Amino acid sequence: MKSTQKDITMDMPALSPVQRIPVRHTELGEGFGIKRALPTRERRMVGAWCFLDHIGPADMRSTEGMHVGAHPHTCLQTFTWMISGQILHRDSLGSEQVIRPGQVNLMTAGLGIAHTEDSLPGEATLHAAQLWIALPPECADMPPAFEHYPELPTWQADGVEYTLLAGRWRTRQAPTRVFTPMVGLDVFAAEAANPSLPLQKQFEYGLLVLSGHATINGQPFDDNDFAYLGQGAERVDLQLSAGTRVLLVGGEPFTSPMTMWWNFVGPSKTHIAQAQHDWESNSARFGNVKGGENRRLQAPALPAGYAV
Ligand code: MN
Repeated sequence: MKSTQKDITMDMPALSPVQRIPVRHTELGEGFGIKRALPTRERRMVGAWCFLDHIGPADMRSTEGMHVGAHPHTCLQTFTWMISGQILHRDSLGSEQVIRPGQVNLMTAGLGIAHTEDSLPGEATLHAAQLWIALPPECADMPPAFEHYPELPTWQADGVEYTLLAGRWRTRQAPTRVFTPMVGLDVFAAEAANPSLPLQKQFEYGLLVLSGHATINGQPFDDNDFAYLGQGAERVDLQLSAGTRVLLVGGEPFTSPMTMWWNFVGPSKTHIAQAQHDWESNSARFGNVKGGENRRLQAPALPAGYAV
């Protein structure tokens, strides 16, 4: 019998297919190896989440630590979720904040800010997720800000521990200040568990295994692959082995014009070129970071097509 489109539709599984996107092995700051899940050639953003670095878990006794010299940001928020170890954040607003496990640091660059990040000695392991959130164009010129969130909403259900990092999750609301509809959720299974997470149809979602092994809608994943779920799904089914931690990010697809280059985000290439010019000319726009005086990162040359 000849196969028809209708037959194929009827055979489709109830759960959304999951796109498997390999993470990219790269370096952060002074030679510290990390895994980058966003952006990749296959996927640039999930909602407003436009950058996802998986830092560690690294044995800090055999490294010089993670050290990122003074560098600028524009039109984005840096969002750091700490799982183990400690990182000292310092920025050009004068903020000086150690982030510890279970905490979030959120830096809103707006028009411009600079910061340094250094792991603290004396810790056996470093494990964190660092994400960027693109700001909508109307926030491109907002003044910079830094917020530290020592506690996030945490609860137990379905045999796992949930921590709400950003946005809304059913009846709960994270305190973190974000500017577009989105969600960030940490799911940790101390013992094996099979939670089913309800999703919002208008959001797209991505999942990254931060430790352990998971199956996502029946497909096996570890921390070498990012799982992308498009819009329209009502739920995602997880099977988590003992000790597995999964990060779920989601949001309404970001439809505003957005350009990303080096540490800059902006509504246009002109914005990026101006930011680069201002950083290279030591403009007061980005200020100075205490402790970053002799380790200012140089921007690579702008690609063709970027001009002030
Ligand atoms: Mn940064």
